[in-house]
Amino acid sequence: MAELHGGCLCGAIRYRVGAEPWAVSHCHCTYCRRATGAPFITWMTLPADGFELTAGEIRHHASTPGVRRGFCGECGTTLTFAGDDHPEEIDVSAATLDDPEAVTPDDHLWSGSRLSWVKLEDGLPRLAEGHWGVGYPRKD
Ligand SMILES: [Zn+2]
Ligand SMILES: [Zn+2]
Repeated sequence: MAELHGGCLCGAIRYRVGAEPWAVSHCHCTYCRRATGAPFITWMTLPADGFELTAGEIRHHASTPGVRRGFCGECGTTLTFAGDDHPEEIDVSAATLDDPEAVTPDDHLWSGSRLSWVKLEDGLPRLAEGHWGVGYPRKD
């Protein structure tokens, strides 16, 4: 995969993705919903060393202990998700890529929390929870 670039709405934060995602997933969990102000968010799950900030500083919110939701302190764009339980990985919002069409979603996570007015007709797998414990669609 070619190197990908992205950033927040105001441009203060820029980042580089240099690794193939282990998964690209729509997350319907209630925490992501509230944090993003949107019905769901699409995360690229990457090896932690595959994500690099090239401009700005990400601020973090601990939505639950040990979890870090990264966002731009200027414009509020949701950018990342990371947790102490899984330090080897980081989630990056696919919609903040300069070219979001460069990635293709694999599945839906926490699908039991999906809002009823979000209609799914993409044929993708619908997982009850996250990938932890069941594996990643693109990881060996
Ligand atoms: Zn910003
Ligand atoms: Zn979520």
